[in-house]
Amino acid sequence: MRNLFITLTLITATSVACGTEPVTNMGAGFDGGAAGADGVSVGADGTARSGTSALVDKGCVDGKFAETFPNPSAPIDDLIAGYKQADHRQFVIDVLKARYPFGATLVQDAPNHPNTGEDCIKYFIKQFSSDPTVSAQAMLKSMGVWVHECGHFYDVSGFSGKKYAINGAITLNCKAMGGADSKLPMYAGPAPTSFPRSFLTKDKYVSKHPGCTYPKQPDCDGYLQTYLGGDPDNGKFESGDQGFNLLMEEAVQYVNSLATAYAFADLKSGGVSHTDRDGILNFLWYVERYLHLARTAHPEVHKAILADACWRELILTVWGRGWLYLEATKDKAGFGIQDKKLEGLVKDPVLLGEIELVRAAHGC
Ligand SMILES: [Zn+2]
Repeated sequence: MRNLFITLTLITATSVACGTEPVTNMGAGFDGGAAGADGVSVGADGTARSGTSALVDKGCVDGKFAETFPNPSAPIDDLIAGYKQADHRQFVIDVLKARYPFGATLVQDAPNHPNTGEDCIKYFIKQFSSDPTVSAQAMLKSMGVWVHECGHFYDVSGFSGKKYAINGAITLNCKAMGGADSKLPMYAGPAPTSFPRSFLTKDKYVSKHPGCTYPKQPDCDGYLQTYLGGDPDNGKFESGDQGFNLLMEEAVQYVNSLATAYAFADLKSGGVSHTDRDGILNFLWYVERYLHLARTAHPEVHKAILADACWRELILTVWGRGWLYLEATKDKAGFGIQDKKLEGLVKDPVLLGEIELVRAAHGC
């Protein structure tokens, strides 16, 4: 397991820490296209795919979701051979343009940090223990980091509601939820409120995959402390204090992490597993649990989310897109560490029912 631990600071006037993110890149193997049954489109790399998982509803937003897949076989040898350290950012953009053009858009068009003025790559490079700009190979090892973190920069800027760029064709601009996130200036505003995601550390599901304690045990939720940690009443704004807006933002970026791993699958070193699938599975589980906790303990929050077509579309889009890439990487060596267990947790019938309620509210 090769984890890079990156501290993400979202773009806010108050520089609120989003968390120390376990992020990895890379993946192994990729498949060619095949014609699917039942109108399911299993396109070749570089072409559109949709609805390949049994966990999506082909009659609803999630099952209808389609996007052009990255092309992991697009040649980048010349770009690697021509690498110049001073042009490391352009190198990242160029290899993404070749294999995952939307990732290139996120890196290229993400605004610089409002406080430091640094571009999104420069901002995160500071947190590496050794400088990855020294070689093309080192930069390529962290492609997932660049796309994920630049994706945050791209979304969390210059908007009055909440922007979620899904791909080159779809951007959802939802009316931000208040409550937990309203401690951040950009989310200040009237209800509907949302509750801190740290509440998930006390729900009925947390015991099925409890947070890691140190020394780290092998089978625990390594994302819990990073994303759900903190005390909502201690006066500090911590990662777990973030509410629904940013829970969904994280889920959006973890699909991008997996898409990037898919795009650069050929660079994975043999026999080493990464958390490419674990990240989005963890967040699909968190989103389900957030909806469940909202419905059972904070019904006004649940009602507000399901009453809003934009939130419904976002939840179902992330669900559909997530499963598209999870299917594409299913059974591929090296893409997951805890993914089998996490997939079982996500498939809990009650939790799947929460997604079904979103579909029903959407008229599916
Ligand atoms: Zn993130």
